[in-house]
Amino acid sequence: CGIIGYTGRLDALTVLLEGLEQLEYRGYDSAGVALLSSGNDRFLMKKAGPVATLKDACTTVDIESHCGIGHTRWATHGGVNDINAHPHIAGRITLIHNGIIENYHNLIDRFGFRESLVSETDTEVAAKLLDHYYEGDPYAAIRKTIREITGSYAFCIMFEDIHDQIFCVRNISPMVAAHMEDGSFVASDVTAIIPYTNRYFVIPEYQIVTLRQDGISVQDLDGNPVELEILEVSWNV
Ligand code: GLU
Repeated sequence: CGIIGYTGRLDALTVLLEGLEQLEYRGYDSAGVALLSSGNDRFLMKKAGPVATLKDACTTVDIESHCGIGHTRWATHGGVNDINAHPHIAGRITLIHNGIIENYHNLIDRFGFRESLVSETDTEVAAKLLDHYYEGDPYAAIRKTIREITGSYAFCIMFEDIHDQIFCVRNISPMVAAHMEDGSFVASDVTAIIPYTNRYFVIPEYQIVTLRQDGISVQDLDGNPVELEILEVSWNV
């Protein structure tokens, strides 16, 4: 129900936990974060309960990371527990999702995922599909995956071998992004970004947004670059 992603020069875990706190008003039952480090380490922590529980669990975390994603979940498919909380990992993919994948039963059967799923969520099926299609080109994998999926989604995706970038795509579920000197942000709404900047843009549906430390780029599903309209928040929170 809440999404935050960050890549840049700040400590990613600190930025993500602060962002999740800003998004708490949206309502949720679980929270989690995943971090990538330049040493290709991947860190995952997710907990049923409030962001405070996640924060407590992260106090002893000692990982140098400048790229990560965080999520607050409002369970729609699968009970409220640590395993069903996001992020979800499948092979080289780490992913968070807001929304509902309507045809996930069908996808589980068609792609033979049933035996290897670890959670009860619709979301994990998207992570499995991305890993299935990933052959080194994140855009190709994302295009093939969303072609198979029906439903609503805002996805933030990290690939294990791309330790400093976050890929985002959405349909119906909201997502905004912003870039500034400290790095690039993505979130379900501006409240999580406002502490850092008042200039942001709404991620257009069915376009793939890439967050890098030094900028954000957007392309349509044919791979053509897209120009974005920057919006400005003129109020203070
Ligand atoms: N359908 C997903 C789940 O139940 C995502 C829910 C959400 O938007 O938080 O895990």
